[in-house]
Amino acid sequence: MKKIMSIQLVFCIIISLLIMPLQVQASGILEMSTGGSVSKVTYSQNNNTEEIRIYSSSTKISKQYLIAPEGSYKNYRLCFEIDNVDVSKTIKFDINKGSVVQIRLANMSDPKRTNVVVETTTKPVYAFSVSSDGKSIILTLGKGSTSANTPSTPSPSPSTTPAPSSPAPSVTATPKPSTTPVPTNTSGSGSSSNVSGAKTSNGPLSITTSGDTCTITLKGITLTDTNNGNIPRFELREKEKMLQITIPGKDTRFTEGYLTGNSIIYGALISFNNKQNSTIIRIPYNNTITYSHSITGGNSTFVIKAGNTSVPVNNPVPSSTPVASPKPSPQPSPSSTPKPSTSTLNNIKPGNGDGKTALIITGKGIVDKFNTYKDKIIVDDTGSKGTVTFMIPTSIVNLGSGSMNINDSLIKSIDLYSTSGSSFLTINKKDANKKFEIVTGSNKDELIVAVTSGTGGSDTSKLVVLDPGHGGTDPGAVFGQYYEKVYNLDIALRCEKILKSKGVNVALTRTTDKTVSLSDRVKFANDLNAYLFVSIHNNSMPSGIKGSMVLYHYTSYRGKPFAQIMLDNLVKDLGTEKIGIQARQNTVVLRDTRMPAILAEVACMSDPGDLALLNTDSFIQKAAESIANSIIQILNSGI
Ligand SMILES: [Zn+2]
Repeated sequence: MKKIMSIQLVFCIIISLLIMPLQVQASGILEMSTGGSVSKVTYSQNNNTEEIRIYSSSTKISKQYLIAPEGSYKNYRLCFEIDNVDVSKTIKFDINKGSVVQIRLANMSDPKRTNVVVETTTKPVYAFSVSSDGKSIILTLGKGSTSANTPSTPSPSPSTTPAPSSPAPSVTATPKPSTTPVPTNTSGSGSSSNVSGAKTSNGPLSITTSGDTCTITLKGITLTDTNNGNIPRFELREKEKMLQITIPGKDTRFTEGYLTGNSIIYGALISFNNKQNSTIIRIPYNNTITYSHSITGGNSTFVIKAGNTSVPVNNPVPSSTPVASPKPSPQPSPSSTPKPSTSTLNNIKPGNGDGKTALIITGKGIVDKFNTYKDKIIVDDTGSKGTVTFMIPTSIVNLGSGSMNINDSLIKSIDLYSTSGSSFLTINKKDANKKFEIVTGSNKDELIVAVTSGTGGSDTSKLVVLDPGHGGTDPGAVFGQYYEKVYNLDIALRCEKILKSKGVNVALTRTTDKTVSLSDRVKFANDLNAYLFVSIHNNSMPSGIKGSMVLYHYTSYRGKPFAQIMLDNLVKDLGTEKIGIQARQNTVVLRDTRMPAILAEVACMSDPGDLALLNTDSFIQKAAESIANSIIQILNSGI
């Protein structure tokens, strides 16, 4: 199990702060009310320390980092985020006392939180604590230090009135590693997320963050963005908001595991995939990003920034573009991760022994959060090795860190490791063949880790939405008396029947000849939280082109292999020509659906031969069967 924050150490520091004298002269306190669930900010000085108190309904700090002076910024910026609170408006609080220049507060969304920036003239030595009444966050700034790598370790004087010549008691005076370490990097780049026990490197992979920039470096690995399966490559899966790196074979420089997230990425999951005989690194990210990829000295480096501009997919920045050079990881992880001395498991308990419910996860409103963020959950099943890891964003739930022995009919034990971005839940299974998934529970505050159907049979818990293209006032392609919408609906209804007979959960966007807008089709599938969206169409192509074609959204990583499965089956089952699979950027039903989506163009109405086939009952039936079989194959593919 993984290293976690030592609870004792936290208490140690909190208590040592609480017993520190707080003889603040009333006149020395600057106060500003902020008028939200963050209600007030105060600043005061006490001997050689400065204190900033933030009165807030939540005292949970999710992220903190320090940005060194850079560019036009001459000051240090100590940044942190308070979970689930807001201020009434963006606030600037000019201090200009001690080392503090300004305090700024601004709201951030998704999830709701307040970002606080404290600008200081010197590199701050700082510690966070919570007031004894639990109503405020106390940020204590020690005497600013300009020598970065020298931790101040004078023993704190027990006296409340230190002699003038004695060193100033530093708030981070304990020689133990601080739970709120000051980043030791003076360059301003590469100060990592200050999560205790943070893992930021794994073999050749290292991740650093500074402000809104995250740098991912692969030492000695050169990636390309081609689809060639035999060379190390990367793929930005915009729809799933994930960067995936695939290295052929088992690269033993890596160890299976995960790296800590930060304000930009949720973390990284490193696994060896035996089926594909490859090493896979999956890096899900928050919201919108921009990225550049460059290769310098045989190392691949990604520079990822949070932002709203569109992602330059398949358009890597040439290596001449200046990018941050790869940085050494701040703390190489020890080869053997120590077992945690304390377990702090939250919100998770063993199932009810019904042979299906493996674990129960609880949290207020957790089902809503799950429905919003479930596409960010990554599941990694090691197959015969008998473990499965779920990487769950903490925007759904923070499960804490530690281990639990369960030993029921399904599970031997679980291991948990949580960072600010993600909780990693590893299940040590009783039966390696059993598959697990996270589903909603019996009420809005409960999720269940449940057994799926195992290796055989289709997974009937997954909903498939079939979308017969066009309908009503929109006929689709028209050739003489033949309307595309009619074939689409006929195939879809037959496909529905076949799927239902095989126990697959299926819903249709239309079952009659009616007009349905594209956005309503998308909304239908999104509202149902479908697992797969399959739109059924027939084509109109220039003369001389005929056959089958399947479309997918250009950044959908599952869409592409699913499209290939469907196309190969159509061609095999129907004897049609293979036009191919095609990536699309602006096909609404592919682009806006939140699940993998494919669009099958069964045959070409523009081709007299294909049209004649479409007008036979056997061809329509075979098309329905082929699509149904592809769907079952997709559901069982484990892709
Ligand atoms: Zn169509």
